[in-house]
Amino acid sequence: MNRIGQVSGIARAMKLARETREREYWPAARMREHQASALASLVGDVGSRSEFHRSRLSGLVGEDGSVEVSALPTLEKKTLMENLDDAFCDPRLRGLDLHSHLLDTELVLGEYRVMASSGSTGSPSLYVYSRADWRSMLAVFFRYAGIGGVLPRLPRRRIAAIGAPSLASMTRKLADSIDVGLHRVLKLSVSDPLPQIVEALNSFQPDAINVYPSVAALLADEQISGRLRIAPEVISTSSELRTPEITDRIERAFGVRPFNLYGTSEGLWGVDCEHHQGIHLFEDWCIAENVDADGRPVPDGQPGARLLLTNLFNRTLPLIRFEVSDVVSIERGTCPCGRTLPRLKAVEGRLDDVLSLPSTGGGQVAVHPSHFSLIAAMPGIREFQIVQRPDEILLRILLGDGATADTTRQVTRTVTERLESLGVRDPMITAETVPAIERTPAGKLKLVIKESPETSPSN
Ligand SMILES: [Zn+2]
Repeated sequence: MNRIGQVSGIARAMKLARETREREYWPAARMREHQASALASLVGDVGSRSEFHRSRLSGLVGEDGSVEVSALPTLEKKTLMENLDDAFCDPRLRGLDLHSHLLDTELVLGEYRVMASSGSTGSPSLYVYSRADWRSMLAVFFRYAGIGGVLPRLPRRRIAAIGAPSLASMTRKLADSIDVGLHRVLKLSVSDPLPQIVEALNSFQPDAINVYPSVAALLADEQISGRLRIAPEVISTSSELRTPEITDRIERAFGVRPFNLYGTSEGLWGVDCEHHQGIHLFEDWCIAENVDADGRPVPDGQPGARLLLTNLFNRTLPLIRFEVSDVVSIERGTCPCGRTLPRLKAVEGRLDDVLSLPSTGGGQVAVHPSHFSLIAAMPGIREFQIVQRPDEILLRILLGDGATADTTRQVTRTVTERLESLGVRDPMITAETVPAIERTPAGKLKLVIKESPETSPSN
């Protein structure tokens, strides 16, 4: 897209962001009304243009055009990918090899952005947004940046974005489409070697940094050790589990409390405000239902098994009750900042990461990986990874400053005690030190790796 088109697109998105900001303070009833009318409009529009959605949604629209979200069928990623051609609202997208357009800077058919997300497991999923859809995505981004304290201003801020190396990712597409000189942006990849990132940050001296939590924890250690010497006013993390220990470590190193950003390729966005009481979800753009393993709604404040997302603005490849395997709880009620947006709490990683271990009482006990976060708080630990094998749990440990000859033994003992306190029978824990922990192709640190009996080298 040409520069003038890009700038005018941004101006329109910023205007949209300003116009929709008041929704953050709406009473609950007003928000429900807004969602109901946006959903009815989405379903009506999509049902007339997409074969796949027409057959799924038929008979579910009331005579007056009203739609009850909980009455609509849920949609798995796999089902959507298998029916991709029929799911598009624009017939011209059918039959195109969109994977070959993932790295394009030009829009497909002059209109569409194509991106992919690998998720933490499984096959990649494609997302397609038209120019109009993308304007809404940008508007949400500008609202989120406003709350997180990184809105454009003069003099221009220096922002360091240490993100996914993949050019096909949503965050990268977003960074590219706003890169018209509003900020001075230094783009680094989480897969770059740490000393290289440290050197680049020292010379750039960012006002704001956005980074994955696992990398933020490493940078905190670098700052404390004196190798990194920066003074950002704003730090935000996104994309991975951020444990309370990591939050504390960042705050100790930089003297600022980090914001927690939640941005998905599906279109659900959120950010915590200056009160840090949970991530405010922009539910005026995307309905989020928190459900249990059987798909039943969970009460506010309780953790669910997954989220069902309904993107109210994507009219290209609609996502209606789309299943996302994030384990979260959602709280309602007015925040001290005055916003009524629901607050997402405890983004405790994916359900796939929960370990199932033998219980002292017989049967299995489910152990959430957040119990292992106590490792991160121990001195001398830089990073760790949990490998579940059929007959043991292996902890891969990357040692850092302050490690002693006894560190791995302490880790083993501490984790064994924690698991015993949770009712795990005879936990078999082994800790080994490693020179580096490999990241996923998307550059993320995978906290839990499960080895099946077939793949386990110990078998
Ligand atoms: Zn708030």
